[in-house]
Amino acid sequence: METGRFILYTLIIIVGCNIFGFFLSIMSLHTNLFTKYRIQKRKMKANVFYTRLPLILFNILLLVLISSLGLYYLYPIIFSNLLELNFDVILMQLIIILLIDDFYFFLLHYWMHKNKFILDRIHRIHHRAITPLALDYMYVHPLEWILGYFGPFFALFLISLFTPVNILAFWSYQFIRNMHELDVHSGYKSFLSKWIPFWGESEHHDLHHAKLNGNYATTFLIWDNIFKTKIR
Ligand SMILES: [Zn+2]
Ligand SMILES: [Zn+2]
Repeated sequence: METGRFILYTLIIIVGCNIFGFFLSIMSLHTNLFTKYRIQKRKMKANVFYTRLPLILFNILLLVLISSLGLYYLYPIIFSNLLELNFDVILMQLIIILLIDDFYFFLLHYWMHKNKFILDRIHRIHHRAITPLALDYMYVHPLEWILGYFGPFFALFLISLFTPVNILAFWSYQFIRNMHELDVHSGYKSFLSKWIPFWGESEHHDLHHAKLNGNYATTFLIWDNIFKTKIR
């Protein structure tokens, strides 16, 4: 697959997930659909969300630019340029990317809470959302998600030392990670997460927003169990 096409399809996944996240946020602000599945009783004010939207959109635009530029240079180095439907390889690489990315994110997130300077100057922005909406996952200081974005690329580099990264494993990662972020910030109880062992459900991250300290893990819950940072 040529580089331009690879980047275009990756951007369709990223932008598509964010458009879905936008409509999910609008739905929870302006309708009473699924109200009974809301985690917190507190209702989010629409005007507060709209004042956050410029930073959210700026971050998404920056994400598109950085992803395009990064993948343009990395594609020939770390990816297989063939679309191979090899399920064992896809699943194995997907799990490795998710695990390394998530462990890196847990450490970064934990550090952002323990370092008061970083907490007040950078991470506090994300915590203005006490009752988050789906798209609030991008209501962060740009430096925060840029630092976080190194996680999957550590994993991709590591895999590429042994074998080229399968494009479908990378796309699956992008889709799952984006949709999971929307899920854990949606304010609604998770449905599917309960059936996947160690998978982070929205109640877990929503409690992190409500209480500030504890529950630093997002994709996998194991890190909070190992480092004893779990709250209920
Ligand atoms: Zn936090
Ligand atoms: Zn959050």
